[in-house]
Amino acid sequence: MIFTPFESQTSGRRLLLKLSPEDKQKWDSKPRRSHMQMEVTDQTTGRRLVVRSASCGAGCYCAAEVVREIPTGSTEALHYHD
Ligand SMILES: [Zn+2]
Repeated sequence: MIFTPFESQTSGRRLLLKLSPEDKQKWDSKPRRSHMQMEVTDQTTGRRLVVRSASCGAGCYCAAEVVREIPTGSTEALHYHD
C-alpha cells in the first residue's frame, strides 16, 4: 500500500512510504478533517511517523502530511483525535 504524505507541514516534497494493509485501511476509514491524525509505520524502513490529514488545495483534506517522527524504540502511546 503506497502512501505519499508531505514530508512536513511546510514542505512540498512528498515521502514514499509503504503501509501495511491495516494502517492503510485505518487511514482510509478516518473522516477527512483538518486535525485527524494517526501513527503509521513504513514497511520498508520501519520508521514510525505521526501523520495527519492535510489540505490538498482543492478544499478538502484528502492529502497527508508528516507531523513528526517517533524515535526508534519508543513505546510512547499516542492519543488520537477521532
Ligand atoms: Zn482533496
